[in-house]
Amino acid sequence: MYAVGIDIGGTKIAGALVDDAGNIKDEVRVPSPIEDSGLMVEAIASVINQLTSGQKVFGVGVAAAGFLSANREIMYHSPNIAAWRNEPLKSRIEAKTPHPILLENDANAAGWAEFRFGAGREVQSMIMLTIGTGVGGAIISEGRILKGGFGIGGELGHVLSIPDGRVCGCGLRGCLETYASGTALLLAARKLAASKDAAGQRLRELTGESGTLSGDAVYQAILEDDAGALSLIGELGSHIGTAIGCMFVPVLDPELVVIGGGVSAVGDKLLDPIRASLLESVPAQGHRPQLEIVKAKFLNQAGLIGAADLARQSFS
Ligand SMILES: [Zn+2]
Repeated sequence: MYAVGIDIGGTKIAGALVDDAGNIKDEVRVPSPIEDSGLMVEAIASVINQLTSGQKVFGVGVAAAGFLSANREIMYHSPNIAAWRNEPLKSRIEAKTPHPILLENDANAAGWAEFRFGAGREVQSMIMLTIGTGVGGAIISEGRILKGGFGIGGELGHVLSIPDGRVCGCGLRGCLETYASGTALLLAARKLAASKDAAGQRLRELTGESGTLSGDAVYQAILEDDAGALSLIGELGSHIGTAIGCMFVPVLDPELVVIGGGVSAVGDKLLDPIRASLLESVPAQGHRPQLEIVKAKFLNQAGLIGAADLARQSFS
């Protein structure tokens, strides 16, 4: 029997039937009507009901970005979905579908997918960083998602990277995600391309007639080993590696750090600078077991695979 996984993003809602080994059978995508909470619930329910028509399932796991209450019933605040402020999301979805609903933060669900079926399946304690629009975090400690007292732990993108640094969407300054997200990388690349610096030559060429450098073009420059683009991904990686070494390792002692999200597609061009700065920042280096930094197995489907598995465990 399958479980349903739903991943709610700022532009689309993806859903799938997922088996007990994390394999996806059927996938459905619809646009996210983010301005209206009623339409959001309708769209989520329509995906669930489409997937489960004539199909018995254990239940439905729903992954969404935002701060969820400790009991996983209320979405306090979602950064991308303006309609969700103190939204009783679980009961509202349950009113539209006959299946039990489990809610989880999207980064936690993605981390769970890696822990159960991906890069973390051999360990018991790991963290995952999802480097995309922002920097998402998930902490799996001794086989469980660490949610914290109010349910909103694991926000690893909002640790301090640079005191009095860049303004972050969370209201603070200098958070890791303002230096180490895909958004930060793209802004830095555009700045370099717009400068007269020789290091920006290739990025200027890739900017083309549109006049706007794309994320794909930055990705291409990194894969071409362009020195300017490599210096930017190196800088991003060093922020991540320093945060892991100075903060996450002393507090959480993970066996493994899984790096996912769109930026992780460049592989070792990102992981190597993370590893290098980790070596320089971890306490008692040389006298402690060495944790590994690895790339995530799942790119875009981690959230729904993890959400489905959490629902399966909860409702079976
Ligand atoms: Zn922040």
